[in-house]
Amino acid sequence: MGKTEATLADITHWIAGARARGAASRTGEVFNPATGDVTGSVRFADAATVDAAVTAARAALPAWSETSPLNRARVMFRFKELLERNHDALAAIITHEHGKVFSDAKGEVQRGIEIVEFACGGPQLLKTQFSDNIGGGIDNFSLRQPLGVVAGITPFNFPVMVPMWMFPLALVCGNTFVLKPSERDPSASLLLAELLQQAGLPDGAFNVVQGDKEAVDAILAHAGIAAVSFVGSTPIAQYIQSEGTRHGKRVQALGGAKNHMVVMPDADLDHAADALVGAAYGSAGERCMAISVCVAVGGVADQLIEKVKSRIGTLRIAEGMDSKADIGPLVTAAHREKVLGYIETGVAEGARIVCDGRTHETASQAGFFVGATLFDRVEPAMRIYREEIFGPVLCMVRVPDLAGALDLVNSHEYGNGVACYTADGGTAREFARNVQAGMVGINVPIPVPMAFHSFGGWKRSMFGDHHAYGEEGVRFYTRYKSVMQRWPDAAASKGPEFAMPVNK
Ligand code: NAD
Repeated sequence: MGKTEATLADITHWIAGARARGAASRTGEVFNPATGDVTGSVRFADAATVDAAVTAARAALPAWSETSPLNRARVMFRFKELLERNHDALAAIITHEHGKVFSDAKGEVQRGIEIVEFACGGPQLLKTQFSDNIGGGIDNFSLRQPLGVVAGITPFNFPVMVPMWMFPLALVCGNTFVLKPSERDPSASLLLAELLQQAGLPDGAFNVVQGDKEAVDAILAHAGIAAVSFVGSTPIAQYIQSEGTRHGKRVQALGGAKNHMVVMPDADLDHAADALVGAAYGSAGERCMAISVCVAVGGVADQLIEKVKSRIGTLRIAEGMDSKADIGPLVTAAHREKVLGYIETGVAEGARIVCDGRTHETASQAGFFVGATLFDRVEPAMRIYREEIFGPVLCMVRVPDLAGALDLVNSHEYGNGVACYTADGGTAREFARNVQAGMVGINVPIPVPMAFHSFGGWKRSMFGDHHAYGEEGVRFYTRYKSVMQRWPDAAASKGPEFAMPVNK
């Protein structure tokens, strides 16, 4: 049963410390993917609403950027405590709008909290270098200063974690922030805003504008925004990179993926099959680090197919709040149609369909479910191999040896995550050193770096040179300045010098 107009949640913006309706009349529908019901109506920002958010962020900037790093970090400490107290509430919002199972949503919130824990070290992270007496009574030191107002544009698949890759570090570095979350699961952003306010963040330092391309374009064109962090699909990442830099902004834009798991003949195949099923079908395959291709090396494919198939048979696909569910629905009906279209394409291209998610018992339900799908004998020229499907579809490709596996992975346009399952240290080392991807797992299927490392892919999985969070994040959200200082000593003055200064 769909909700009536009166019971639909009104999902607003958050500007200058309060919910804001904005002037525009455009809205979008938000669904519960497990039932297909419309649960909310999200307001779409126009340029005037984006401008109001940027104005609030600019007004908050002088005081916040002059607040000491220690006091900024104290806000993060309090925010972390509030996130822990609201862990279940945030996870429930994720499950109700995204569809992923509750335990997975809790894991997402936890990975976000870890970035906040990293940001609590702001004073240490912002410490810089000092060279005493480089000559002639001069000292040389460096500063890392905030950029100003920065924006984050985020995807639907991690509505809490991906924004938290961005704003905790941006804020602790002294910037103020405008977040444009995905319009498909926008509600979590408002609870995050309320918790930041409760943690003592000054009003205006964190703002949320809901919306779609119109809001994104207004952010890209706004002269008051110094930098943009983006995470989403590759075509949009590329657009953000080119438009953002054209408007003079610093940009980091993380894009799509096609992540391979290479399984060597010496690997523990049960271990590999467990990893494959979890990494391919967890979160219904809607993870940028999901494994979507298994590269079976030297004849292990037939055994692996049987092992994966038997595990698929035990998967429970259900509503995400069902504590026994392994996998929930996809995010929207439109996305479900796209994934079903790829399954049809795979069959038409001649791949062998071993498990067909179109026939799963949930397919007849009103929610946006697709069962786990397994294709064997997939060829590199096929669209189901080349393109990102972003659903519960795993492709098996066969290669003769490690060199063939590396060639295959390295020839793909994407290079986000990759994994290699092997019992041999030499193989693992050769793989890790030569593979063209930003994040590598050795007997680890989803190698998402910890908060104190940094996240990002290679090739068309990332545009810009700074990875997200960790020390790379601190560099992205600060500008480097070198200062040379000498205090006047009239007696030591030798008059003007005309040669290039060198260390004496
Ligand atoms: P998306 O690219 O459709 O949307 C991302 C953001 O861009 C959203 O905020 C959306 O409102 C905005 N947007 C959409 N169309 C736009 C347009 N034409 N112009 C301007 N802005 C636009 O991505 P999605 O479907 O929300 O998320 C899934 C994608 O994100 C997948 O491709 C996935 O691989 C990728 N992703 C990548 C990473 C990573 O770290 N590399 C992490 C998570 C998700």
